[in-house]
Amino acid sequence: MTIRRELLEHEGHLRLGTELLHDPRRNKGTAFTAAERDALRLRGLLPPHVFSEAEQAARALALIRRSQDPMQRYISLSSLQDRNESLYFRVLVDNLTELMPIVYTPTVGKACQEFGHIFRRPRGLFLSAEDRGRIGEVLRNWPMRDVRVIVATDGERILGLGDLGAHGMGIPVGKLNLYTACAGVNPHVCLPITLDVGTNNSELLDDPYYAGLRRGRLDGDEYDEFLEEFVTEVARAFPRVLLQFEDFGNRHAFKLLERYRDRICCFNDDIQGTAAIALAGLVSAQRITDTRLADHRILFLGAGEAGAGIAELIVSELVADGLDAAEARRRCWMVDSKGLVVASRTDLAPHKLPFAHDHEFVPDLANAVDVLRPTALVGVSGQPQTFTRPIVEVMAANNERPIVFALSNPTSKAECTARQAYEWSDGRAVFASGSPFDPVELAGRTLVPGQGNNCYIFPGVGLGIVASGAKRVPDEIFRIAAGTLAGMTSAEDLATGCLYPPLANIRAVSLRIATAVAEFVHSEGLTDDPRPDDLLEHVRSFVYEPDYQTYVED
Ligand code: NAD
Repeated sequence: MTIRRELLEHEGHLRLGTELLHDPRRNKGTAFTAAERDALRLRGLLPPHVFSEAEQAARALALIRRSQDPMQRYISLSSLQDRNESLYFRVLVDNLTELMPIVYTPTVGKACQEFGHIFRRPRGLFLSAEDRGRIGEVLRNWPMRDVRVIVATDGERILGLGDLGAHGMGIPVGKLNLYTACAGVNPHVCLPITLDVGTNNSELLDDPYYAGLRRGRLDGDEYDEFLEEFVTEVARAFPRVLLQFEDFGNRHAFKLLERYRDRICCFNDDIQGTAAIALAGLVSAQRITDTRLADHRILFLGAGEAGAGIAELIVSELVADGLDAAEARRRCWMVDSKGLVVASRTDLAPHKLPFAHDHEFVPDLANAVDVLRPTALVGVSGQPQTFTRPIVEVMAANNERPIVFALSNPTSKAECTARQAYEWSDGRAVFASGSPFDPVELAGRTLVPGQGNNCYIFPGVGLGIVASGAKRVPDEIFRIAAGTLAGMTSAEDLATGCLYPPLANIRAVSLRIATAVAEFVHSEGLTDDPRPDDLLEHVRSFVYEPDYQTYVED
């Protein structure tokens, strides 16, 4: 009998007995074999029957399903992850369509709102304003040295829920779980980080269970210096890392991306990942509407990170298709909280300026739809029920197949529901949403709303970057990801109105995206790594499968 020590040692120390049962990375619970129980001093510490991983997964899933309450399901899944990481990912990967709304939007939003009340065990790394001057030291408290993907938030704009301060940690944790579940990025190289720069949310500051710093947000130079120290120390501690900025307020998000995109390997999912998923939806929609992207006039409700990111990527796509950049920009129009974004306005943030066209000012969406006669509406405002019945009806009167994307998250913030979009357009709307909606029965047809979930994009992009050792993340990577994803939407998917492949296929989608990204990285010389002969196999070799290791061999 041989103990595979390399799998059980941590910093020279061999884990045995209860220590193993309390180490979620190595724990197999009742699946430890008889030989393992003997060799690893586990005999007697577990009930005698040995279960297979499949049996354990079925039991864990049944336990999760016992509760109808999504929050209870979230808690149940989190505690499984705390106990047995491999089993957690087995259950998640095999039941992604069912569990995605639990581990991510919409339930993760609620989990962040209730973070202080449901808190059991910490996960991820908290870097607070009080750590200024020693961020490097705190980063090195993380037990793993080889970190390849960090998702970091400052908690200022969590989904569409606003400032949740340190309680935003649910988001980086959830996103990194999706990197693993959707693409197979190894969980041991993932690090969720919350930058606790304070919160301006008075409800949280008054909450006795608020777990973050009880102070207002850092601002101005202090904020910038904190972020500068963070980014510098991350690059020093983890030189091959991909840093994903997540759920920053838009006053910081654009600035940070501009400042760091040419210095380190980083991207912002709210801007660039969202752009790719929306572009993929629009590209797929062309196969239903039988038009070209250049034929469209796209009106955005919301001109923030998502709106500007999507519009910029649409422009790149149109330019790549041969359109002049100025012409391409005129295909995209925006309404923000003050009305139509036009050149005569003097209150526009820099990211809106490229889409501020010469046009008379129009005060709201309904009037903008009347005047501009858009072919597509993209909702990224965080304002629920703003695609009203009259607005959708005008879209349907003006277009044979109106495109209506209600992307605001969580579900409660969607600009309209799938049912509303279909019913108000006699089933003609080409619809996608940010949060999941059930299929809709209408006039004897079943319409399947596609979920424009960023998880079709960022995990595959991340896997491609990790596998190729990319040093930067140019925008082109997101255009490639969008095109690859759209190419995987089948005619059957489109026949039901669904613009994306089924979530159940996501690992295949991510592998394809990762390989396309790696190809681009090598062809553009964005890495020092040599190009492997078989890129697909190389990328595949990075894919983590949630199968138990055998610790003791006969
Ligand atoms: P943001 O704060 O950067 O931007 C919000 C924008 O909405 C701002 O331009 C604001 O002026 C505008 N706005 C606010 N109230 C408005 C109103 N009443 N009428 C018109 N415009 C209004 O936020 P963001 O990162 O751009 O995200 C916006 C929404 O998009 C969120 O709900 C988010 O969950 C969602 N989102 C969805 C996806 C996805 O589905 N894949 C991805 C990213 C973001």
